[in-house]
Amino acid sequence: MIRVLRADITTLPVDAIVNAANTTLLGGGGVDGAIHRAAGPELKAYCAELGGCPTGEARITPGFRLPAKWVIHAVGPVWHGGGREEATLLASCYRNALELAAAHGARTIAFPSISTGAYGYPKDEAARIAVSVMRVYEGRFDEIIACCFSEADKRLYEDTLEIGPP
Ligand code: ADP
Repeated sequence: MIRVLRADITTLPVDAIVNAANTTLLGGGGVDGAIHRAAGPELKAYCAELGGCPTGEARITPGFRLPAKWVIHAVGPVWHGGGREEATLLASCYRNALELAAAHGARTIAFPSISTGAYGYPKDEAARIAVSVMRVYEGRFDEIIACCFSEADKRLYEDTLEIGPP
């Protein structure tokens, strides 16, 4: 089941939360900064050992001080206008995050709206991609949460889900 929630993702008691990370995995602004602050310095130390992550891929770490058991660090594409495989890369980062979560036995997972902050991905197109990948995986989880930071994002995801299966 896919659920839309307006929340700070760092507060969610789910098996895994997904971070909109950058390729260094060493933290940044937005949701990445919030996750690192809430997880504590152990997260950055652990991430430093991973040696980064290419765009479109994901890596898993413990949640440390977070209520979530794991953090899955997924690297979304920077929006350059749509001609640089952005849609493929964004879909693959949702897919890789869900595959990693399933491989670790996670039953509940929450995603922020990857790439739609500092990385500038158009929100409606990003939500369409997120929802279409979530639909493929929803049977393998108890709950996949689209965790929205604003009321406008929440409405966008609700509208996107209502369009029905592709
Ligand atoms: P990116 O660099 O991938 O664009 P950002 O962190 O800048 O990542 O933004 C991604 C999304 O995360 C945006 O929609 C932003 O509003 C949202 N966001 C920021 N902080 C939080 C948070 N604490 N919980 C959930 N979502 C958040």
